[in-house]
Amino acid sequence: MQDIKSKQELSRIQLEGLKWTVKHAYENSPFYKRHFDRAGIKPSDIKTLDDLARLPFTEADHLKENYPFPLLSVPVDQVVRIHSSSGTTGKRKILAYTKKDIQDWTDFFARAYKMAGIGPGDRVQIAVGYGLWTAGAGFQAGCEKVGAMAIPVGPGNLELQCKFMQDMETTCICCTSSMALLLGEEINRRGIRDRIKVHTIIQGSERCSDSMRKAILEHFGARHLFDITGLTELYGPGPGIDCKEHKGIHYWADYYILEILDPETLEPVEDGQIGEMVVTTLRKEASPLIRYRTRDLTRRISGPCPCGSVFPRHDRILGRSDDMIIFRGVNIYPGQIDEILSDMEGISSEYNVLLERRDGKDFMIVKVERDNAGDPSWDEDIQRHIEKEIKSQIMVSAEVRIVDYGDLPRSERKSRRIYDQR
Ligand code: ZN
Repeated sequence: MQDIKSKQELSRIQLEGLKWTVKHAYENSPFYKRHFDRAGIKPSDIKTLDDLARLPFTEADHLKENYPFPLLSVPVDQVVRIHSSSGTTGKRKILAYTKKDIQDWTDFFARAYKMAGIGPGDRVQIAVGYGLWTAGAGFQAGCEKVGAMAIPVGPGNLELQCKFMQDMETTCICCTSSMALLLGEEINRRGIRDRIKVHTIIQGSERCSDSMRKAILEHFGARHLFDITGLTELYGPGPGIDCKEHKGIHYWADYYILEILDPETLEPVEDGQIGEMVVTTLRKEASPLIRYRTRDLTRRISGPCPCGSVFPRHDRILGRSDDMIIFRGVNIYPGQIDEILSDMEGISSEYNVLLERRDGKDFMIVKVERDNAGDPSWDEDIQRHIEKEIKSQIMVSAEVRIVDYGDLPRSERKSRRIYDQR
């Protein structure tokens, strides 16, 4: 794997990779050929990185065509492995890998571990799914590549996790954030914290509040908690991770180009604004992605990172574009309201947003529960404070109503937050 030293070098690799990918896909995939022909674009039209914007988008629905080998751009006998995910919205996706794809994935996953400070001498307990899922295979290959010891326990089974953490003197654990919290609580329940040597937690980037992060670190007595990104279509886990500064996720811009676009207009958003991640791979052989709409939302973090890495950064994953609402011309994501409320005291974690139309005008009512031990005499202050924050951070006017603790519906599954009655 190349050692990238400058932005210029990154741009050169990106242009080279973009030209290669478009030509490769056009010449070897009947799907991409049709797709480009329909958009009236030829590989020779790609001369600069700006020409990326001329290419048509690829969407999750395209992965349903040519099942079980969607987007396939190599002869099938060059495929050495497949992985599959059900996706968050049904319908199984199958992605193919050549020998080189597996090698590339392993290489950049090793880079992710190195960024988290994991290497020889570390013992990495991999508590994620193996099999058809990409997670286990990715974490395992990257771990072996950096020369750390892999302990492939797989997901679940708290008993076994606790036993191995002690017996194997695990130093790094890889899991989801909900698993990390469960494990952390279990360590304390069993009173075994002084026998736990975990200094680093690497968790899949799902929405996880700052207070949950703090709790996880405290439970383990660990030094670092890293967010690693992942998408089956983009090899699997590992295409980005935060560094020890924890000021955003560095992503491997020599393996893919990241665009952050307004999900409605599909035009680039300004730096710092939330948009949908759209990815174009630069070296992927079996199932290349060209302007693939991931539906994941984040924002670009501009400027150099204090760690000195040349790799650009984006924020944590802030939700899905399918959850976006348009209110008085402003794009709003439930995650933004989450962010505002999670910084507030005196309220519970439950809220919902009601959108109504009165006299041809849109209104937003945000219902927020008072904290279990909260004092109703503070309601007015809290309400005004939240209204002010929504106004200044999302730039819309909302009417906030504080309700009693337990008034809002609870769900064991993902809670419904938005009620659009317009
Ligand atoms: Zn950094």
